Amino acid sequence: MQTASANIPTLPVNGVTFYLPQSIDDVKALLRQARQANQSVSVRGSGHSFPLTPQTETSANTMHIMLSHLNAVSLDKTTGIVTVQAGCHLGLDPFDPTKISTTENSLCYQLDPLDAQGRRTQPPGWALPDLGGITHQTIGGFMATGSSGGSTKFAFEDALLSVRVVYHGETDVEERVFERPATNDPNDPFYGAAFASMGLMGIVVEATYQCIPAFNIVGSEQTFSQSDCSMVDLFGPGSGDTPSLQQFLNKTDYTRLMWWPQASEQEMVIWQAARADAFKDWQTFVPKPYLEVPKPFGSQTLQDVIEWLAGKLFETIDRLPFFIELIIKRIFPKGNPTREELIRELEKMQDGMLLRILKFFVSQGEDQQFQDIWWNGLPMDNQMSDDLFPVWFTELWIPIEQTEAVMQFLKKFYQNPENAGIFSVELYAAKASEFWLSPAYGTDVFRVDVFWFAKNEENPVDYYDRFWRALPAAGFYFRPHWGKYLPDPNGPQGITYLQAQYPRWNDFMTLRQQMDPHNLFVTPYWQKQLGLS
Ligand SMILES: Cc1cc2nc3c(=O)[nH]c(=O)nc-3n(C[C@H](O)[C@H](O)[C@H](O)COP(=O)(O)OP(=O)(O)OC[C@H]3O[C@@H](n4cnc5c(N)ncnc54)[C@H](O)[C@@H]3O)c2cc1C
Repeated sequence: MQTASANIPTLPVNGVTFYLPQSIDDVKALLRQARQANQSVSVRGSGHSFPLTPQTETSANTMHIMLSHLNAVSLDKTTGIVTVQAGCHLGLDPFDPTKISTTENSLCYQLDPLDAQGRRTQPPGWALPDLGGITHQTIGGFMATGSSGGSTKFAFEDALLSVRVVYHGETDVEERVFERPATNDPNDPFYGAAFASMGLMGIVVEATYQCIPAFNIVGSEQTFSQSDCSMVDLFGPGSGDTPSLQQFLNKTDYTRLMWWPQASEQEMVIWQAARADAFKDWQTFVPKPYLEVPKPFGSQTLQDVIEWLAGKLFETIDRLPFFIELIIKRIFPKGNPTREELIRELEKMQDGMLLRILKFFVSQGEDQQFQDIWWNGLPMDNQMSDDLFPVWFTELWIPIEQTEAVMQFLKKFYQNPENAGIFSVELYAAKASEFWLSPAYGTDVFRVDVFWFAKNEENPVDYYDRFWRALPAAGFYFRPHWGKYLPDPNGPQGITYLQAQYPRWNDFMTLRQQMDPHNLFVTPYWQKQLGLS
């Protein structure tokens, strides 16, 4: 018998076969097939969630789907209401394995088109209130993990009006639209299913947003010594004209701080931007883009070479002790006490070298002013290549009232070089969310986003575990970003801990059971991380 999926194209990615449905009917046919074959179902967006994406790709008995062909955008230019299919990317995804993603078919471009120089050739269009640090993600993927940009004033999900979900009910495939309730009733299932649902409620096939008029941003990036920052009282309550960090996060439209806490650095790089009117003099507005990675002579090729070199240098030095140890073993007799000392010294030197490389290549190093169109300016990390300079994260969201106390704590915590590591930590904020499993549920949050260079040979979990354990022990009960490294589900910050952090956890799980009675969307990853059965 021919399977329902026989006419649906497939694509191998990392050795895994992905179905590429071309219509919602195809999605339904795939769900029926998965149900018959007793498979779990996973949708891949742009695959930017680590370790979720690679771990899901290796799970057995799972049907893998990409919605790359479901990328249509329908914009009402008068009202700014846009309906977008969930496989559409926010911006260009340069690493899209299907190669379907382009700037022109991305959501942001279609809301507010720009020419190749990043300038408008027509009056400003529409915008989303906020974007993350990159725009490679798909609509479905960004929303599923509750992703967010760096603002306590504006949130991406504030624009969300509804989502259409395809799922498998008791007997057959069904479709359901979750609409934002006119009354804002917090018990409405919209708040469980439409955002931060981890794909557990079914496949989101489209979303509708109320956009806002397009805007520009004007901002700066400045580097300060950790002990002498004139812009923000980093560790204190604020005084005179200098706001505390919490006050700064509350009053600034968009911001993020990149902290290099190592004893040799102790620097804070502060990126901040304010919204600016896009309609006034739009014909003459010339963007001055933010520059993250050094771009000699304005050349993209040279910028890529620099990033490639950074990765290669890092890998070489990362493996250096192994080779040096081999040589020393040959020279010194085994057990010679000076050998261990020598290696310790070399490792210290190595850490210093690795840090220099990361810092040199990640930070432009010079203060700068910039102005840009919203969707080119807000995603300030788009310039970092996922391929040449891959970074992994664990990101811990903490009620914003605790910002000052967290900063005091981290300052002490980082005095231990093992905690300070060799990379930076990103500090930013998000606006309180009504969505039940958003890590910002019910409170503005201060976010501690711990970076890990993915070409580092060690296991990031060993490093992250220091943060996962130390923060709650000091009274900071974080909620982790769903799309980044999560604590061991069986450890002290595992399933029981997570349940306690989310007042609507049980409501979410009840809705999940209604939407997925056969546990089709309970992939091994989410089964393990959330204790689902
Ligand atoms: C370099 C980098 C920068 C980042 N910057 C930020 C940032 O500034 N702010 C922030 O909050 N996060 C950030 N992230 C995290 C990122 O936004 C999330 O990991 C996001 O989920 C990635 O989207 P994606 O399209 O790649 O989804 P994927 O990683 O492919 O999928 C994520 C989850 O969504 C599910 N899913 C995808 N599509 C659908 C669908 N249509 N229906 C149902 N479920 C679906 C998947 O099954 C999976 O469980 C960053 C990540 C990287 C690598």
